[in-house]
Amino acid sequence: HVKENGKDGVAIYRPDMRDKTWKHIFMSNHLRNAICNRELFMVYQPQVDLQTGELVGVEGLIRWIHPERGFISPGEFIPFAEQNGYIKEITDWTIEVACKQIDLWKKKGYDGFKVSINLSSKLINQPGMMEFIKEKIDEYDVDPMNFCLEITETAIIDSLERSIETLNEFRKIGVSVALDDFGTGYSSLTYLHKLPIDVLKVDREFLVDIVDANHESYIFESIMGLAHNMGLQVIAEGIETEGQANFLRKASCDLAQGYYFSKPISVKELEELLENRIKVG
Ligand code: C2E
Ligand code: MG
Ligand code: MG
Ligand code: MG
Repeated sequence: HVKENGKDGVAIYRPDMRDKTWKHIFMSNHLRNAICNRELFMVYQPQVDLQTGELVGVEGLIRWIHPERGFISPGEFIPFAEQNGYIKEITDWTIEVACKQIDLWKKKGYDGFKVSINLSSKLINQPGMMEFIKEKIDEYDVDPMNFCLEITETAIIDSLERSIETLNEFRKIGVSVALDDFGTGYSSLTYLHKLPIDVLKVDREFLVDIVDANHESYIFESIMGLAHNMGLQVIAEGIETEGQANFLRKASCDLAQGYYFSKPISVKELEELLENRIKVG
């Protein structure tokens, strides 16, 4: 047997390792150019009020379609970007696109809903991040009420005190903050009350476990009660079935996001939705 780690100068690569290396090389070569080549774009997934069925927000999600390789998942290139120094540039781009889009929508008469953007844990406390967000909000005359930053808890826990300061800064400019992927990481309820956040996004994985084991619904109801007592709005992520939607409505969850309501969609598709909303409403 030849050693896998190649300490003897010989290495055996399993297919997934080779694949990883290949992807690494590919991304090193192409991710930088993706922005200027216009290979990146944003899609928007509706967030729906569970009681009224109304669209009250959208989450902006980044997409990369390479002319030869086709679709590359953000689940793949975002972690790469985080580890290889591309994340700031990509995030700046998403913030600019979102602010520009909010402005365009406002001019078309589509407003009163929130646009959320994912802020990588690597960036939350990075110098210049806050300034950039402020600058773009001013430049596009965005009402901060319409702008929300989604942050995962890993970012916050790693440097709790510092992060609380940063979150308070966001609050000062009037931007809201959502804690993303709640229920997957540490998810300690003990620090939750310390965080100046506005929204709790309960992760799909966590929900699926609980909704499927019906006798465990009290877990979710407890979280709902706790969140509401802390003045947080709760968004359930990854809702795929009517059963899940009903479960959440009964548990008095505020908002939901997921394929059951809508997949992430293009600007054009979203505008069609908004158009109908206005006609119907
Ligand atoms: P996330 O922020 O938790 O985003 C939710 C993910 O769940 C999205 O995957 C969305 O398409 C997917 N999703 C929504 N509804 C359903 C559903 O009903 N069922 C299932 N199975 N999945 C659903 P996506 O777009 O592939 O993004 C994956 C992750 O990549 C995001 O997780 C986020 O962490 C990251 N990401 C995406 N766009 C950006 C971005 O612009 N910046 C940063 N920093 N990260 C991003
Ligand atoms: Mg998110
Ligand atoms: Mg999430
Ligand atoms: Mg998630």
